[in-house]
Amino acid sequence: MNLIVQKFGGTSVADAARVENVADIITETYKQGNNVVAVVSAQGKFTDVLVDKANEINPKASKREMDMLLSAGEQISVALLAMAIEKRGFPVKSFLGWQAGFQTDSNYSNARIRTIKKERIENELAKRTIIIVAGFQGINRYDDVTTLGRGGSDTSAVALAAALNAKKCQIYTDVDGVYTADPRLVKTAQKLDSISYDEMLELATLGAQVLHNRSVEMAKRYNVDVEVLSSLTRKPGTIIKEEAEVEKMIISGVAKDTSIARISVLELVDKPGVAFRLFSLLAKEKINVDIILQSVGRDGTKDITFTVSKDNGARAVEVLEQNKKNIGIKGVVCDTNCAKVSIVGAGMESNPGVASKLFDALASHNINIDMVSTSEIKISVLIDVKDADRAVVAIHDAFYN
Ligand code: ADP
Ligand code: ASP
Ligand code: MG
Repeated sequence: MNLIVQKFGGTSVADAARVENVADIITETYKQGNNVVAVVSAQGKFTDVLVDKANEINPKASKREMDMLLSAGEQISVALLAMAIEKRGFPVKSFLGWQAGFQTDSNYSNARIRTIKKERIENELAKRTIIIVAGFQGINRYDDVTTLGRGGSDTSAVALAAALNAKKCQIYTDVDGVYTADPRLVKTAQKLDSISYDEMLELATLGAQVLHNRSVEMAKRYNVDVEVLSSLTRKPGTIIKEEAEVEKMIISGVAKDTSIARISVLELVDKPGVAFRLFSLLAKEKINVDIILQSVGRDGTKDITFTVSKDNGARAVEVLEQNKKNIGIKGVVCDTNCAKVSIVGAGMESNPGVASKLFDALASHNINIDMVSTSEIKISVLIDVKDADRAVVAIHDAFYN
């Protein structure tokens, strides 16, 4: 018997009619002779509503209590979906993350899955029960609820598909596939029939929220066949796999990330070991650093500028301020009005002129570049956040029109 894992995002289960629609998709797949494990997100924007509720009471709430709160959204949607399937006369059971066996580390709000104890699900599948699992959540070794990070239901789904050896993992969402740019922002964006794990991983990491980046990482590691498709149109979507001929395009997509902060560390002593002291401090705080730029030294000092995620900005500044003396720095400045716009494509390596085309697109729209970073399959530029949407459209036009 084939097993298909299907994941439904917030929009797909936003109200009663959408829940009924999802119940139809699941039961149709089941009737075709497959076993089905469905992973579900909270309804609509309910997770954001819960974040607002927390902020009303304590904007500095601990991550443990945030996880306790945010995991509640998925409990509602799994139960409602199971009820809709019961009504159709099919055997069904809903499970919270811990009941489905999701064991994670204790990194609250961004926990990683350690193992999935799959006995309970396997026993139910053997009885041909339809399984509905709350995405985005698990339990740590202290029996505390954890969440996998915003957008993490995709990762729950791919992890289950890998653990249960599913035939495929379908990610149902509110667009009908992965596009060359966010189709809500770029009207001329094109839908991709397929994309490679590596390119999708870069796009997701660089801000294309259509898939949680860790879900792509996991799909690649365990070779899970993933399809992104719409729960509303039911047309074929985008297949994510090892090798994809992205229609011979040089770049497979443009992505935007506005959740970053740029930190400038001023007048560092220009001596060996200073950068090490600075970045090891941040590493100890588990703060990920992205683009790094170092100025040319003058008068025995230099500046170092780097980016971190916006929610780590304040903490990074605090740690550096506290250690100004022992690292040897004069000042720290944090700017949150920036955005990172990136192009991704495996064809970039063998096609000269990609960077100059990107810079040309920005220059001709009078958009200033603050920092640049490149790898084999991507180029990112840091720009003012107010220019971000214009930049995405300009770059997309330059490469696709
Ligand atoms: P879900 O709730 O189903 O998980 P998300 O909101 O997390 O859905 O992700 C889907 C959204 O991702 C789309 O509505 C779209 O606006 C956005 N998106 C950003 N970049 C892309 C892209 N390259 N291709 C498709 N969608 C994208
Ligand atoms: N409900 C969670 C969120 O909004 C998880 C998800 O949707 O994937 O981030
Ligand atoms: Mg999502």
